[in-house]
Amino acid sequence: MYAYHELIYDLIRIDVFQKEMSFFSIGHSCLGQNIYCVKAGTGAKNALVVAGHHSLETILSRFLMEYLFRFPKDGVQDVTLYAVPLLNPDGADIVAGRIKPPDYSSDRIDWQANYRGVDLNHNYDAGFFLAKKKVEDEGIFGPNPTKYGGEAPFSEPETRAIQNLCKKIPFDVAVALHSQGEEIYYEYDGMIPTGTDAYLQKFKEISHYKITKPKGTASHAGMKDWFIKTYGKPAFTIEAGVGKNPLPHTLFPRIYRDCATILDAVIETTRKL
Ligand SMILES: [Zn+2]
Repeated sequence: MYAYHELIYDLIRIDVFQKEMSFFSIGHSCLGQNIYCVKAGTGAKNALVVAGHHSLETILSRFLMEYLFRFPKDGVQDVTLYAVPLLNPDGADIVAGRIKPPDYSSDRIDWQANYRGVDLNHNYDAGFFLAKKKVEDEGIFGPNPTKYGGEAPFSEPETRAIQNLCKKIPFDVAVALHSQGEEIYYEYDGMIPTGTDAYLQKFKEISHYKITKPKGTASHAGMKDWFIKTYGKPAFTIEAGVGKNPLPHTLFPRIYRDCATILDAVIETTRKL
């Protein structure tokens, strides 16, 4: 499984082979591990891509680092890419068997949350208590391997790292990479920011992924939801691949091709807007 060790190794490779890129820590996980962001390019427009909210989905962390290795050395005209490959390093290390899960857990096989048992993509400030109520209806009232959103929005250091990054950099677009379902989500609670259509049009041209609206507990308190609500700028959740999480690495070539095509389209559309 792709986890913190693998990320550090890839960051060293970035340092050696992609000298024009830089990386920095945007905060720390519950256990004090760095949450890294790689900056590529120098354009005036800013695109944010985040992977690894969920620890069974770090195939997208690996994808994002591979994408950066193949990113043009001199960047892409007009756009700066900020990539956060692994937002939940502790969760990833639990799934990889490197950190023992906390006592309340069943086991590490179904672990999607951070170390405190909070599902990071249920911890953003957008319909937080609506999402909490829906999850309670499913019988989840406290720390859990999945779906528990925490006591309050941004209660977790990992989501606060994203909040702080967005306060510092005026992003024109934000993308969260998850698995699975081969779907693209683009709106929040009826809000569709100006410019969203241009992205969707491009996605329809270049991708077979279904453009859709999330249902149930997935429709509030996620990164895309909060970004749309807070900044009124386009944001997307990409659900890559098909199968049961964690997706097998045999699917990596296909996921690479699908997601690289989509991220290329995000950057191209951002450049033109
Ligand atoms: Zn996910």
